[in-house]
Amino acid sequence: MIHEYDIVVVGAGPIGGYLSGKLSQSNHRVLLIEEHKEIGRPFQCAGLVNPGAMAKVGLYDTALTRIWGARMYSPSGIKIEIGNPDITRTWSVCRKIFDERVVLDSVANGTDIWLSSQPKSAVINDDYVEMVIDSDGRERIVRTKLLCGADGAHSWVRRNFKMGRPKEMMVGLQIEVTGYDTEDGKLDLFTGENVAPGFFSWAIPSGETTRIGIWSKPNLLGEKSCEDYLNQLMFESPWKNKFTNCKEVGRFCGPVPSGILKNLTKERIILFGDAAGICKPTTGGGIGPGFKQVDLLLPMINNLVKDNDFTKKRMKLLSQEMNGMRKNHRRKKALRDAFVTEVDDNELNEIFAIWARPEVIKLINELGDIENPIPLGVRMLKDIPEFRKYAGKAALAILWS
Ligand SMILES: Cc1cc2nc3c(=O)[nH]c(=O)nc-3n(C[C@H](O)[C@H](O)[C@H](O)COP(=O)(O)OP(=O)(O)OC[C@H]3O[C@@H](n4cnc5c(N)ncnc54)[C@H](O)[C@@H]3O)c2cc1C
Repeated sequence: MIHEYDIVVVGAGPIGGYLSGKLSQSNHRVLLIEEHKEIGRPFQCAGLVNPGAMAKVGLYDTALTRIWGARMYSPSGIKIEIGNPDITRTWSVCRKIFDERVVLDSVANGTDIWLSSQPKSAVINDDYVEMVIDSDGRERIVRTKLLCGADGAHSWVRRNFKMGRPKEMMVGLQIEVTGYDTEDGKLDLFTGENVAPGFFSWAIPSGETTRIGIWSKPNLLGEKSCEDYLNQLMFESPWKNKFTNCKEVGRFCGPVPSGILKNLTKERIILFGDAAGICKPTTGGGIGPGFKQVDLLLPMINNLVKDNDFTKKRMKLLSQEMNGMRKNHRRKKALRDAFVTEVDDNELNEIFAIWARPEVIKLINELGDIENPIPLGVRMLKDIPEFRKYAGKAALAILWS
C-alpha cells in the first residue's frame, strides 16, 4: 500500500509540530513522523520561550516561571542587575509538556502522526518524493509532494540530500537542581574563561527547580569538557556559595546549531528549525526563530503545494525569503563575537564596568532585549565612545550591513 500526502514533516519537535499544524490549517494532507515513541523526550533545552513565540502558540499554562529580570556577572564578579517586574522578558516552560501540546494542536488540526517512525530512504521524482519509512519495525511507502526536515541538529534529511552544515555548532550541558540560591523571576548569567569560554553559563528558575547550564564552542573548550566548566562554576568560582545546597535531579546535553544554511531548499525538500541551523548566535534559542521561519515561509509553501511546482527556481526564491533572518543572525553574531566571544577576561571586566554605570543600566532597561540586542548595541556604539574600541568589526557589521 502506498500512503499519499501533500507534505511529510520529519521530526515532531516544537518546530515540526508547529509547522505541521500550520500546514494542516491550510488544508494540506500532512504526515508527521517521529523516531521516538513519545513526544518531548529526550529534550535538551533550558526551556526559555520568548514572548513573541509564546504568543504564537498561547501555551502560557506550560510556563513554570515568568522571567522578568537578569543578573549578569563579569569574570571578576562585577554584577549588573536589569529588568522590570512589569515586563515579561521570557517564559521558562516545561519543555516536555510544551512540545507535546504543540504537536497535539497540530493533530487536532488534522495532521496524521506516526510515532516510532523514521525514514530509511527518500528519493526525489518528477512529481513526488518517494519515501520508505520504518514505522515501528514495519516498512511503509509514502509518496509526498514536499518533504520537510524538522529533524534537529543532526538532521537525517539534511544529510541524505547533502545540504551542507550550519556554520557553528555549539555544545550545551545543563543540570536541573533543587536548592539554588535565587530570586523568583530573575535568571543569572556568568561569564569568564573559567566558567564558559567565549560564551556564558546560566541559572534559570523553572518552578521548583533551577536549570544550571553552560554553552560554548568545542574549539574553545581546550582539554576540558562542558562538565569540567560546570563543576568549576559550581565549586570553584566566585559564585560557588550560590550552589552550596544544590542537589542534581536531571542532566541533559546537546548541540546548538547556528548559522542559517545557505541553501535550505532543494527540489521538493525544505529544512526547518535546528536542521536549518536557525538557533540564535547570542542566546542559543531555537524555538522563537524556528516559529518565525515557519510563519515567514508558509504563504509561499501554500502556493508551491497548490501548484505542485517545486522547480529549482521557485525553491531558490523560498530560500532567499530567509535573507532577512540570515542578515539579522550575522549581525547578532558580530555583536556576540565583539563583546563576549572574542574578548579576554580583562576586557570583559572592563566592558561590565561600563555596563554597570547607572546611565548605561537605564539604557539597557529601556532598549535591552536578549532576543534582539541589535537596537541596544547600535545605541551603545553611538552613545558610549568607550565601547567602540571593542567593537571594530561589530560596529561595521551592525551599522552598515
Ligand atoms: C543545553 C541547551 C539549552 C537550550 N536552551 C534553549 C532555550 O532555552 N530556548 C530555546 O528556544 N532553545 C533552546 N535550545 C535550543 C532548542 O532546544 C532547539 O533549538 C529546539 O529544540 C529546536 O527544535 P526543532 O524542532 O528544530 O528540533 P528538535 O527539538 O531537536 O526536534 C527534532 C525532533 O526530530 C526527531 N528526529 C530526529 N531525527 C529523526 C529521524 N531521522 N526520524 C524521525 N524523527 C527524527 C527528534 O526525535 C525530535 O523529536 C537549547 C539547546 C541546548 C542544547
